[in-house]
Amino acid sequence: MDRASQALIAAWQLSLQEAGAEAMALMQQMAPEVAPALAENFYAVLLEDPRAARYLSHDQVRQHLQPSMQRWLQQLLVTIPASVPTSVAAQRVIGDVHARVGIPVDLVTRGARVIKRHLFAELQDRAPSADVAFRAINALSAVIDIAMEGMTLAYAHARERSARTDSAYRLFSLVQNVSTERERQRALLLDWENGLLYAMASQRAETEGAWLAESEFGLWFTHKGRPSFGESSETQQIDALIKRIDARLPDALTHSDFRTRMRALLHIRKKLEQIRTLLGMLFERVGELDAGSDALTHLLNRRFLPTVLRREIELASSSHTPFAVLLLDLDHFKVINDTHGHDGGDRALQHVAGLLSQFTRGSDYLFRYGGEEFVIVLVAATVDQAVSIAENLRGHIARSPLTLPSGQELALTASIGVAAHDEHPDFEHLMARADAAMYEAKKRGRNRVVLASDDLPPAPDRRMQHRR
Ligand code: GH3
Ligand code: MG
Ligand code: MG
Repeated sequence: MDRASQALIAAWQLSLQEAGAEAMALMQQMAPEVAPALAENFYAVLLEDPRAARYLSHDQVRQHLQPSMQRWLQQLLVTIPASVPTSVAAQRVIGDVHARVGIPVDLVTRGARVIKRHLFAELQDRAPSADVAFRAINALSAVIDIAMEGMTLAYAHARERSARTDSAYRLFSLVQNVSTERERQRALLLDWENGLLYAMASQRAETEGAWLAESEFGLWFTHKGRPSFGESSETQQIDALIKRIDARLPDALTHSDFRTRMRALLHIRKKLEQIRTLLGMLFERVGELDAGSDALTHLLNRRFLPTVLRREIELASSSHTPFAVLLLDLDHFKVINDTHGHDGGDRALQHVAGLLSQFTRGSDYLFRYGGEEFVIVLVAATVDQAVSIAENLRGHIARSPLTLPSGQELALTASIGVAAHDEHPDFEHLMARADAAMYEAKKRGRNRVVLASDDLPPAPDRRMQHRR
């Protein structure tokens, strides 16, 4: 448990102590009676805001969020000192969910304000005495603030994390081939320098068309390099160096005094060298960012799954287009490793990755999700289309044995869980449904496709690792 949570727990427990037994009993009594109406009220207020309406269609609210809101309120009212740690942990989970869905913090605090007003009025009506009412209101006011604080803490952390992955993904998609890009930019910078030397030697005394900022390197840096590397002291320094070089350019090109021209040239070459060094550092760091794709299969790395799913969910809710995810797990893969060695297993993974690329559209996203698990995000696909694509993939895998270097044939099958986006704004919900469906496919005998439905039990040992 981190220090922030401990502080919240202590504050919550203190508020309950100060409230005393009578006020706590009052809060607990009223919990089941007031929670439903309050939850409704909270969302009514929230949905008045066009931003919230964009995230939460009314259907979603009724199906998923209003019931959890009710539970949240009940929990705040019935928490006793011993259960405070659990309640604090719950606030942080809620903050995580809000971050994944992208609900603005000010909307949540506005909701809390609405809830406080209604709760306090209820407490005043129900309290046996003014003193008890005062104590209960006091405590509840603190408890709601503490809950908000816990949510906001988690929210801020989660947003920071996802901002980092988002920018890594952006960088990955812009600078696909890091080493080629590095060489190209070095060459362009050198070209510019040679051009300058040539202009000086031929005494072409004009700056028109000579600025570094407007050269091919300069344009690349402003439009692609800087946004894909992200803001850092290196990008800022390069930006400043480009400006300083251009500021000295008139001296180098047009000054009448030879020695002034030479001094300017020397200055510019020193600055260019600094740009090269900084650029090298930036590219190096990109290299360290274990590239976006998985080394063995060349499919997308799972850490970009949240970025892709968030964007697809946003697109789906704004343009009302359906999409679906497939979770594919190879059957009895341990046996394959045991009989054909780890190398044989690796070949099998590459083989399946190849089949997946071959039989999906270029617009779909293919992820290596885990050891022998793959996730396919099918964009603009209905449930029926998703099931038939899954069935098609399953068939191709089953009918395309891999030929090993020994000439031996290795048969493979896969179990696939299909989940269509059901308007729920949280991608974890979608992944959990795909997981449950995949697990069901295993249970029913493997080498099959199962569509997620609400009556399936959740998969055991649900891996929620893609939150990191
Ligand atoms: P099931 O049909 O229930 O999925 O059976 P399974 O044997 O596939 O079971 P499970 O999914 O639990 O096991 C996955 C195995 O995949 C475990 C591990 O040895 C193997 N594996 C994971 N990653 C790699 C990899 O990168 N290369 C190879 N060769 N094997 C891997
Ligand atoms: Mg597995
Ligand atoms: Mg398996």
